[in-house]
Amino acid sequence: MSERHIETVCVRGAYQPKNGEPRQIPIIQSTTFQYETSRDMANLFDLEASGYFYSRLQNPTCDTVAAKIAALEGGSAGMLTSSGQAANFFAMFNLANCGDHFVSGASIYGGTFNLFNVTMRKMGIDVTFVRPDCTEEELHAAFRPNTKALFGETLANPALTVLDIEQYARVAHAHGVPLVVDNTFPTPVMCRPIAWGADIVTHSTTKYMDGHGVAVGGAIVDAGKFDWMAHADKFPGLCTPDESYHGITYAEKFGQGGAFITKCTAQLMRDFGSTPSPQSAFYLNLGLESLHVRMPRHCENGQAVAEFLSTRPEVETVHYCGLPSDPYYKLAQKYLPNGSCGVVSFVMKGGRPAAETFMRNLKLAAIETHVADAVTCCLNPATSTHRQLTDAELDAAGIPAGLVRMSCGLESKEDLIADMAQALDAVK
Ligand SMILES: *Cc1c(COP(=O)(O)O)cnc(C)c1O
Repeated sequence: MSERHIETVCVRGAYQPKNGEPRQIPIIQSTTFQYETSRDMANLFDLEASGYFYSRLQNPTCDTVAAKIAALEGGSAGMLTSSGQAANFFAMFNLANCGDHFVSGASIYGGTFNLFNVTMRKMGIDVTFVRPDCTEEELHAAFRPNTKALFGETLANPALTVLDIEQYARVAHAHGVPLVVDNTFPTPVMCRPIAWGADIVTHSTTKYMDGHGVAVGGAIVDAGKFDWMAHADKFPGLCTPDESYHGITYAEKFGQGGAFITKCTAQLMRDFGSTPSPQSAFYLNLGLESLHVRMPRHCENGQAVAEFLSTRPEVETVHYCGLPSDPYYKLAQKYLPNGSCGVVSFVMKGGRPAAETFMRNLKLAAIETHVADAVTCCLNPATSTHRQLTDAELDAAGIPAGLVRMSCGLESKEDLIADMAQALDAVK
C-alpha cells in the first residue's frame, strides 16, 4: 500500500477486508481478549508473540488506524494515544530519562511548551528552547552531552513559523540523536517530515485528521531510520535489557523499524494508560478517509482569507506562509509547496481590545479553543491557550497579545471574508 498515492492510502490504507468482511473497520469494543492456555497469555506478556490481551496496551481497531497514519507518513510503525499531549509526552519520555536533556524550537503549541517547560522539568528532564529563526551554530550550541532529542513543529501552532526540517535533522544527527517533529497542522497530505529526515513524527489527531471536532486523539509514527544501537550509550532504554520484560532489548528484538513504538507501547502505555477508545479511533478513520480532499480546501480558504486580511488597515501583520511577504514563504515553498493549512494568524493594530471587539462581532466564525476543523473558528491565544506564558515567553514564541488565530474551515471563502470584513468595520 505504501507505494500507492497518498489519496489512496487515506481511503484504503491499513484495512483491506477479505471476502465477505465489513467494508468499514470493525470497532472491537472489548477490554480484553481470551486465550485457551495461560502459556498463550504468557508469550504475549513476554512480548514473545504478538497479539492482543488488554486494550490499555493495544486494541485491533486502534492499531489499524495507527497503521494507516504510519503509512501516510511513510513510517515503519505507529501508535495512537488518547491526545496529542500524550503523543508528544510519550515520544519525548521514550527517549529521555530523569537527568537527560533535549532541545526544542520555542515556537510550539502552548500545551507542549508547558509540558516541556514545567511538567517534564519536574520529572528531572531539562529542555533548552531555541528561537525559530536561530542559526545552525546556535542550534548546535544548545546541545549537551546528555541531550537525547531535538523537537520542532513543522508549522507551529499558532505562530505559523515553518521548520527547516532538513537543517534540524542534520543538526540532530550530528549529535547522534533523533529529530521529533509534530506534524499536526500540515498533516501528511501537505508535508511528510520523514522524507526530509525526521525520525519520529507526532500528531494531535484532534485537528485536521479528525477534522470534524469529534474526538481528541494523538498519534506517534517512527520512521524506522534511526540506528539506536549505533548510539547505544545515549539510549539505554532501547539498547539494554528491560527487566520488566525478562531482559529483552528492544533495539535487538524489534529492530530499527519496531523498537521505538514497541517500547513506547510496552512501557509507557502499560504504565500511563493514555489509551484511545476504539470508538474514537473509528471516528478518526472517518476523518482520514477524506483528509486529502479537505486539506486543499482548507488551504484555499486560508490563502484567500490571508490575502484579504493583508489589505485591511485594522490589521498590523498577517502570518501565513502562503503570502510572498511572509518571512517563511521561502521555506514553505520547499516543505509545503501545495499549501500549508487553513490557519491564519494576524495581529490587530489595537492589540488585545481590538482583537476582542473583532471577535465579538464575528457572526460566522466561532470563538473556540479549537482549530483545524470543518467549522471556521478563532481564538486569542494570549487570553486562552497561552495564558500560562509570561509576556516575555509570548514574545519569544512569536505570539503577541493582539494575535488572533483564525482557523478557516470548509465554508465558502466569500462568506468567511464578508463576515470578517463586517467585524473589522466594527473595530474602528
Ligand atoms: C492541539 C495540539 C497539540 C495537543 O493536542 P491535543 O489533542 O489537544 O492533546 C499538540 N501539538 C499541536 C501542534 C497542536 O495543535
